[in-house]
Amino acid sequence: SGDPQSYEFQAETRMLLDIVAKSLYSEKEVFIRELISNASDAIEKARYLALQGTQMDSSEADMKIHITTDKYDKTFTIQDSGLGMTKEELIENLGTIARSGSKMFIKELQEAGTTDPQSIIGQFGVGFYSAFMVAEKVEVYSRSRLPNSVGFCWSSDGCGKYTIEECEGVEPGTKIVCHLKIADREYADEQTVKDVIKKYSSFISAPIEVNGEQANNIQPLWLMDPKEVSPEQHDEFYRFVGSAYDKPRFVLHYRTDAPIDLRCVLYVPEGKPGLFDLNRDRDSSVSLYCRRVLIMNKAENVLPKWLRFMKGVVDSEDIPLNLSRELLQDSALIRKLRTVIQNRVIRFLFDKSRKDTENYNKFFTDYGIFIKEGILSAQEQVEKEEMAKLLMYDSSAKPVGEKVTLPEYISRMQDDQKDIYYLATPSRELAESSPYFEALKKKNVEVLFCYEPYDEVVLMQLREFTDRKIISVEKQMRQSKESVDFDTSEGSLRRSEANELMDWLKTVLAGRCWSVKATPSLESHPCVVTVEEMGAARHFVRTQFSQIP
Ligand code: ADP
Ligand code: MG
Repeated sequence: SGDPQSYEFQAETRMLLDIVAKSLYSEKEVFIRELISNASDAIEKARYLALQGTQMDSSEADMKIHITTDKYDKTFTIQDSGLGMTKEELIENLGTIARSGSKMFIKELQEAGTTDPQSIIGQFGVGFYSAFMVAEKVEVYSRSRLPNSVGFCWSSDGCGKYTIEECEGVEPGTKIVCHLKIADREYADEQTVKDVIKKYSSFISAPIEVNGEQANNIQPLWLMDPKEVSPEQHDEFYRFVGSAYDKPRFVLHYRTDAPIDLRCVLYVPEGKPGLFDLNRDRDSSVSLYCRRVLIMNKAENVLPKWLRFMKGVVDSEDIPLNLSRELLQDSALIRKLRTVIQNRVIRFLFDKSRKDTENYNKFFTDYGIFIKEGILSAQEQVEKEEMAKLLMYDSSAKPVGEKVTLPEYISRMQDDQKDIYYLATPSRELAESSPYFEALKKKNVEVLFCYEPYDEVVLMQLREFTDRKIISVEKQMRQSKESVDFDTSEGSLRRSEANELMDWLKTVLAGRCWSVKATPSLESHPCVVTVEEMGAARHFVRTQFSQIP
């Protein structure tokens, strides 16, 4: 060992520490949850590496989390026998903001301006740094479990600098000593600590001992009987597995043995998706377990991409423990798992759409875009149609604010109606007064209104639903074989006049339109431009026509 070396925190870290130190968290006690969750992560990482055959020091170590409290010294100490950290890892992990949650927090903060960090901090976890909410000094003793590692002590008062020093007698794993501020000495009280653990960390799978006594119930929540899990337990578990700070809006707790062994708890967040969630490359928020052993956090491919907004845990006894990343990428087993889960989630959401319509509508407003993405990326028609059951649209048959599903639309179709009609339009108002809709409205045919440009792309990809073609009202109008009763109907042009007009239009619009036809479908509009498909791209057509002299 030598003299302690001094380092400066990275600028962003300093900024975070500053905010944390001013303790904007209303509940400081969450620092216990954060340190426990780090200890638990470290233990699971070590366990996983051991299972994979990585050689490690004292692999017989007990995989427990030990917490000790000392009222006289005002200390809160947490020790784990997890993976531990090398000197470089101490610098990297505790001196810079490596963690995505903190990174995002800082980013949001910079974008929002620093005026009101309070309003956003609640949505983020500040992890390890939360210890500085209650501690005037934090010491981290750590020794990597990888062979031939030596121990180090990292120490800081959270004010810009920290030191690292080699240290004798450090156990493999990590021990964190929080020297509590006088005002926060309550966290050196055993009962207080036990209560906090009960509140936040009862589902942690490693045993947690407080001054030698076990303080958590180590039954993993997803293996419990769904009926025995309380909403509060789900809330907390959701925050833990999803690194989230809101609540779940929907909970799917599901167990099956066939065609594959599966225990899972999956959540739809209460919060709306951010831009970050829309990114197809964002990390998954699902952890994959096999018989309670964590195989992989942020497990890709266990859920299909379009379900990346869901958070939770999937446990399957059929997964080999030494599952490699390559195998996880694309094995028949994972594909099967993914299909089973996708079908179950679709069934679950479809059920919600019928039994909990109000909440489902909100869900669809917030997350419908993912379902549309799912339809666009699905390979098989059956799969697309399964997802399409979850779509909702405004409809000419319903007042503003009420939406309909495709199965519902079909159930109302008139006997002589073969196809499903939609109108792509920027708004309900324009839809109602649209010349494209006029004729069908007169015949009382229901039309779905869709407002987003990509809605039409989705419906075109879908093409049909339970053997009914899905077509745009414009296409319907183009294909209509109905002819005009020239001469006979009152106020109408004579056939010769109409022909003359059409000939003139064809000449003027030469090269700009495909054909000019007379139609009986219009009542209150003299003419209408139709495009075969992609009516939403009509603005493009409009600019073309605006150049007509
Ligand atoms: P997060 O847990 O989200 O990554 P934290 O701020 O809580 O963020 O922790 C930062 C990093 O420090 C962790 O990712 C981990 O690499 C390291 N770390 C923290 N606590 C421990 C521990 N008890 N054992 C090993 N590594 C740890
Ligand atoms: Mg953490």
